[in-house]
Amino acid sequence: MSAESDKMVLDAKKRKSAFKLNPDKIMRSATEMGFGSKSLELLKRALAVESLGSMPFSLYRAPPIIERAGEGAVIYDADGKEYIDMIAGFSVNNIGYHRREVLDAIIEQFKKISQYAEMLSEVRIKLSELLVKVTPGNYPKKVFYGVTGTDANEITLKLVRFYTGRAYVMTHWADYHGRTSAVSALTSSFSTWAQTYPVPPSDPAIVRFPFPYCYRCPFGLKRDSCGLACLHHVEYMLASSYYGLSSPGKGLTNVAAFLIEPFQSAAGYIIPPDEYLPGIYKIAKERDILFVVDEIQTGWARTGKLWAVNHYPGIEPDIILVSKSIAGGLPCSAVVGRSEIMDSWGPGAFSTTFAGYMLAAASALKTIEIIVSEDLASQADKKGRYFLKGLEELKDRHPILGDVQGKGLYIGLEFVKDEREKTPAAKETEWMASRLLELGMLVKRAGYFRNRFALSPPLNITYQQIDKAIEIFDRAFAEAEQKFNIKKS
Ligand code: PLP
Repeated sequence: MSAESDKMVLDAKKRKSAFKLNPDKIMRSATEMGFGSKSLELLKRALAVESLGSMPFSLYRAPPIIERAGEGAVIYDADGKEYIDMIAGFSVNNIGYHRREVLDAIIEQFKKISQYAEMLSEVRIKLSELLVKVTPGNYPKKVFYGVTGTDANEITLKLVRFYTGRAYVMTHWADYHGRTSAVSALTSSFSTWAQTYPVPPSDPAIVRFPFPYCYRCPFGLKRDSCGLACLHHVEYMLASSYYGLSSPGKGLTNVAAFLIEPFQSAAGYIIPPDEYLPGIYKIAKERDILFVVDEIQTGWARTGKLWAVNHYPGIEPDIILVSKSIAGGLPCSAVVGRSEIMDSWGPGAFSTTFAGYMLAAASALKTIEIIVSEDLASQADKKGRYFLKGLEELKDRHPILGDVQGKGLYIGLEFVKDEREKTPAAKETEWMASRLLELGMLVKRAGYFRNRFALSPPLNITYQQIDKAIEIFDRAFAEAEQKFNIKKS
C-alpha cells in the first residue's frame, strides 16, 4: 500500500473511533448518575439491540428510559423519577400531553379507518382547508403532505426546482432540515456529514450563506455597527456573475429558492436581529426568488406567535413547511404554498405511504383547534417573558451563562468559560446536560460550538414548573462554575 492509502485507512479508523461509543462506559455512567434499577435493566437491554448511531445516545452520558408524561412539563422515567421537560420531544408536544379531546379524535377516526395509502378522506380534506387558513400569506394556497419534517424538505427541494426551472437552493450555514442523503446537504453539521462517509452530502446545487449569529458574528462585527454585513454578503453573492448564481445584467438567476429556518433551532435556538428576516425576504422578492421558511420547529405558537415569521409584518412566504407539533404527537408534515406553485407538478410527483394518513389528520385537526382556540401563542409569550426574566437574573449572577435569547418559549442559553473572551464552554455544557438529568431536568444540548441549551418546554408548562426549572439551573450552573473554576471577570 502507498503512504497515501495508508493515511486514508488511518483517517477512516480515526473517524470511526471519534464517533464510537462504548456500551460498558454508558452503563457505568448510568450507574454513576443514579439511574434506578428498572432503567438500568432496560438500558442494558437497549444496548444489546439498539444501534449506537441513534439519537438518544447523543444527548447525555447515558440516555434516560422514558416511561410517561405528567401534567404540564413533566416526564417520568421507568423508575418513576420526575424530570422537568425542557425538550417537549424536540418541540413536538406544544399542547402538552394527555389531551383527552385529541385521544377521542384519534379513537373515533381509528374506528372508521386509520390509513389507506395516501388516498383522500374527509378528515384530510378538512385538515388541508384548515392549514391553508392558518398559515401566513394572503393568497390562494394548497397543501402537499409528508410524514416527517425531512419529507417536507425533500418535497420542497424537488418542487421549487421543478416550478422555477432553476437548480440552486440557498440556505444558511448551520440550518437543520433533516438527515436523509439529499436533505443532509441542507443541514450543514460536521457530525451529520461525517456519518455519510465516504459519500459527501450529495446535492451540488445547494449554496449556503452565514446566519446572523450576533453573539459570535461570523464576520467578526458588533451588532450596533455591523451595517447588517450578513445581508450585504447575500446581495454580493447574487450580484456578481462569478458566484454562478445570477447574472443581474441579463436579468437571470439560477436560484429557485431561499429555503431557510427563520430562527436556527438545532443550532441552539438562535434568533436573528429584527432587521434580518425582512431584509432577506426583500432580497428574494426583488430577484423573483421563492421565499420558503421551514417552521417545523418554530411553528405552532412556540415563539409567542403562531409562526416565527408573524413577528415580522409583511413577510408572506411562498411556501411554509410544518410538522412536529402539528398532530399532538403523531407523525405528520405538510408543505403549504401558493396554489400556482403547488399545482405546477404532476400526480405522484412525490409519494410516501403514510402521507396525510387519516389518524394523523384527525389528531392534527384537534391539536390545531386547541392551539388556536386556547391562544397558546399568547400563553407562550407570557410564560416566555416570565422564564426569560428568571434566566436574565441567573445570567447576572452566573459567569458561565454568557447569553440568553428567547421569544415565547423558544429560548437559547449560551455558556462561556470566560465572560469577556466568550470562550465556548463545550465540555462544561456537556457536563451540565448530564448533571441536569441527575437533578431532574431534560435539556437539549446544541450550538455551533456545542455550548448551548435549546429550551422548548410544552407550552402548558406551569409557572411553578418554570420556577423549579430556574432553581435547578441555578444549582447546576453553580456546581459547574465550581467544578470548572469559572469566575466573574
Ligand atoms: N426542519 C427543522 C427546522 C427541524 O428542526 C427538523 C427536526 O428537528 C427537521 C426539519 C426534520 O424533521 P424530522 O426529524 O421530523 O424529519
